[in-house]
Amino acid sequence: MSAASDDPVLAVDIGGTSLRLGLINAGGQLIGEIARYDVPFGADGAGDLDGILSIMAAHVGRARGAISGELQIGISLCGNVDLETGDAVLVPNLGWRNLPFGKLVSRRFQLPVCVATDVRQAVLAEAVWGHGADERNFAWATVGTGYGGYLFLNGQLYGGAHGFAGNFGHTTYDEINGHPCGCGRRGCFETFVAGPAIAHAGQQAREAGRSLILSSLAIDGAVSTRAVFQAIELGDPVATQIVADAIRLICINLGGVVNLLDIKLIVMGGGVTKAAPWLVERVNDEIRAYLMTAEAQTELRVVRESTANAALWGAAAHSFAAAGILPGDMLEAGLTHRAIRAY
Ligand SMILES: [Zn+2]
Repeated sequence: MSAASDDPVLAVDIGGTSLRLGLINAGGQLIGEIARYDVPFGADGAGDLDGILSIMAAHVGRARGAISGELQIGISLCGNVDLETGDAVLVPNLGWRNLPFGKLVSRRFQLPVCVATDVRQAVLAEAVWGHGADERNFAWATVGTGYGGYLFLNGQLYGGAHGFAGNFGHTTYDEINGHPCGCGRRGCFETFVAGPAIAHAGQQAREAGRSLILSSLAIDGAVSTRAVFQAIELGDPVATQIVADAIRLICINLGGVVNLLDIKLIVMGGGVTKAAPWLVERVNDEIRAYLMTAEAQTELRVVRESTANAALWGAAAHSFAAAGILPGDMLEAGLTHRAIRAY
């Protein structure tokens, strides 16, 4: 049995805190609603694979009954994934390393599975159905728990030699004064601009007694990223400066990407941009100061993702492309793009 072109894919987005599932058809339309769950964690602090599969099982069962062909499962995962094997190579937020994730899911449900890292799935969604539909070249940037990205160049997803391209959050900004980074090095842009960095700066300001508003918003003495944005709404100049500094570094970093690649579009997503949509507009304005060419200064657009969760849509697009229902020529060159069938 193979996929039918009018059947939806079961798209699954597994993040560091939440798990979302939805049925999405080849036109990019959501069938029904998105279901959201907290990601289950085991006693060892790692993502609970059995728990995740149990959540998926109910949705797989319902979806199977609702379609005519073979159900395809498309997955977005918040870490590095080997595109050909579907292995979760390194997923720090779930504590997974070299887990044959795609095969385990495929074997459990006896269904074809496509899986890739969330930033890559998000770019694919924008290229197929979103802001990138008319673009040959654009970049994706996520500001959330981390700061990452992916590239679409010459009409194709660009993964580089190993699928790791687009890690512009892990270019170094200041290795002397910067903090240790999740990648094992020090002072990457991510350590200055991602959500935890914003929270950390807020916490330092609270401990130094520089902001009564941040102190009042702290929960059990801890300032969250969300509290920093709440403090801005309350007019707190310290919180305003913390986020202004982060925006400046995002503009320096993404300005470098534009100068390097001569792209005209950057799409931004991630939890921080959801909490503060105006941040993307500020980046769109302030990045001009870091652009080399008059053309870039005039033509570059920095916009928010075209759905509330582009990675979920991209997971569906991945399965449609692997099944030949969407054109596969926009996927990474030089790789085999077939669904994993471990049964
Ligand atoms: Zn890093």
